[in-house]
Amino acid sequence: MSNIGGHDTATFSTDVKTTERTPFYESISSKSPNVSYHFNPDVSKYHFGPHHPMKPFRLKLTDHLMLSYKLYEKMDLYAPRRATKDEFLEFHSDDYVNFLQSVTPENSQKLTNQILAQFNIGDDCPIFDGMYDYSAIYSGASLDASRKLIAGMSDIAINWSGGLHHAKKSEPSGFCYVNDIVLSILNLLRVHPRIMYIDIDLHHGDGVQEAFFLTDRVMTVSFHMYNGEFFPGTGSIDEIGLQKGKNYAVNVPLKDGIDDDSYIRLFKSIIEPLIVKFQPSCIVQQCGADSLGYDRLGCFNLNIRAHGECVKFVKSFGIPMLVLGGGGYTPRNVSRLWCYETSVLNDVTLDPKIPNFIPTYDWFGPDYSLHPQLDGRLENKNSRKYLESVKQEILEQLRYLNYAPSVQMQEIPPDITGLTQEEEDLIKELNENSDEPDERSSQKIKDESRTTELAL
Ligand SMILES: [Zn+2]
Repeated sequence: MSNIGGHDTATFSTDVKTTERTPFYESISSKSPNVSYHFNPDVSKYHFGPHHPMKPFRLKLTDHLMLSYKLYEKMDLYAPRRATKDEFLEFHSDDYVNFLQSVTPENSQKLTNQILAQFNIGDDCPIFDGMYDYSAIYSGASLDASRKLIAGMSDIAINWSGGLHHAKKSEPSGFCYVNDIVLSILNLLRVHPRIMYIDIDLHHGDGVQEAFFLTDRVMTVSFHMYNGEFFPGTGSIDEIGLQKGKNYAVNVPLKDGIDDDSYIRLFKSIIEPLIVKFQPSCIVQQCGADSLGYDRLGCFNLNIRAHGECVKFVKSFGIPMLVLGGGGYTPRNVSRLWCYETSVLNDVTLDPKIPNFIPTYDWFGPDYSLHPQLDGRLENKNSRKYLESVKQEILEQLRYLNYAPSVQMQEIPPDITGLTQEEEDLIKELNENSDEPDERSSQKIKDESRTTELAL
């Protein structure tokens, strides 16, 4: 293990189980894994609008921090090409991709409200200059990362500009236009029999869950804020998958203010048995940063080290990983988190004092620390009893899983890319039940009040 400058002031340490685990996959040896980093700097130039909370600029901040800590020296670097239209069409519908490709802020003035509603255009998902290109850039990076994993060139492939988990087959949702996660998993399924998707964003990973709801080749596991109203409204513990996919969707609904210790304990106690039983040959982890404390749209109490501990734990199994970004609306903390998690994935320890020669140094004041204290803003509404009951219910669900279901390796099964009309209707019905328009608007109001409360 190498050490870049200084000491680590961990507030908690990795447990014995994590450090002693012997990888059960041979592709990653006991030496440091081969890590690749996939980033096209053009992605940070796009702008959703002055008041929109999604700031692609956060990726530039992340990049500056990584440069200042010299993390680039540790990894294989790739500036990936954009995803092609055909690649989008592997998951998204023709109509929707054509719409994304042709619409501009100017010509959208002429579109009817019906068309705008059909494609869910509004405050969350506005039409902005270059939105198609922006989507092609971040999706191209995730696909490139998946190709390096498939080729065995990387054990761990990172794309912080990806992880846009809400996008649906025929519409954008929650600031996400194209679902790069679904596209990458579809690509990985060409060679991997079983893929586990782990989502630690504040919000439910609904777009990914929906895409793989009917298959046992992808297990989706999402930890998120849930009260039936909070965006996107789905993610109750009762959503477990359907047909062949029954029990292969796992949802961990949490309440406001969860803290480091409770989150880590719950995460490990659920993820370990799931990995052992499902035996994925590849793991895709979405590391949305809005689950941190003090996030502009957030309501959890997590510190950067706790979030990173979940990444470290997954890495400890030695299974090839695709690591993606996601939400995160306080840019200085998003960049701190993803820089820290890059160091975790490279087995490198960073000086908690941010190097002072980066052009964006002022963003990190007044403490200029990689680990500002982010907990304690909200009361933890997750009692021990509640978390125990969530854990027990999920372990019960696990009992119904087949041990490492075997698959005939073939082309991607038709139930993933081409759903039958009946299946489409079923999923549509499930969405309609959980996505009442009034719930969405109440969430918007809540978000707006947070925006004024916690301006950047
Ligand atoms: Zn989110």
